[in-house]
Amino acid sequence: MARYTGPACKLCRREGTKLFLKGDRCYSDRCAIEKRNYPPGEHGRARFSRRSNYRIQLREKQKLRRMYQLLERQFRNYFKEAEKRKGVTGENLLKLLEQRLDNMVYRMGFAPSRATARQLILHNHFEVNGKRVNIPSYQLSVGDRVAPREKSKNLLVIEETLKGYGSRGTVPYISVDVGKKEGAYVEEPTRDIIPVPVEENLIVELYSK
Ligand code: SF4
Repeated sequence: MARYTGPACKLCRREGTKLFLKGDRCYSDRCAIEKRNYPPGEHGRARFSRRSNYRIQLREKQKLRRMYQLLERQFRNYFKEAEKRKGVTGENLLKLLEQRLDNMVYRMGFAPSRATARQLILHNHFEVNGKRVNIPSYQLSVGDRVAPREKSKNLLVIEETLKGYGSRGTVPYISVDVGKKEGAYVEEPTRDIIPVPVEENLIVELYSK
């Protein structure tokens, strides 16, 4: 599956917020947003002044899509699925994104970023409920257990990231046993506990035009 391979920090600067795409660097003073919080490019600073409703909605959508590192087509498919489900479309969208395996591997502290989580999954380093899964978009259900496979438990990147589990914040809908190197998706989240700073109603408005 194609994916964006350009400079990650440019995406954050474009959206004017931290998207946490680069692991440890995002939590340090080397973060580009800490130093240059304006859009990249020669006329970057000027862009902040031109904000129509459409642009605001578009930026909100791009922010969320880039945070989960999805292509437009993938993202729109999630939106269509969110619309079909019962409940509030924006909240459904966030839940679907949160339930992706690569996101869960990241949230459980097995990988420093969603991009690294995706790589590890693609390289067969993870299992769900004891079965190997190498599909980053795999949707978890409540009760699912996620862990590195036996042969991968001592991978340096997993060990190092797990050591810092908790230091970057945790979410109440997963539990992690750091000693056993195992995590579980314990309850479906509600919007108020999903730590994603976007106004998803703007995305719904954008796609409903
Ligand atoms: Fe974004 Fe992380 Fe780069 Fe900061 S260091 S700009 S949060 S990707």
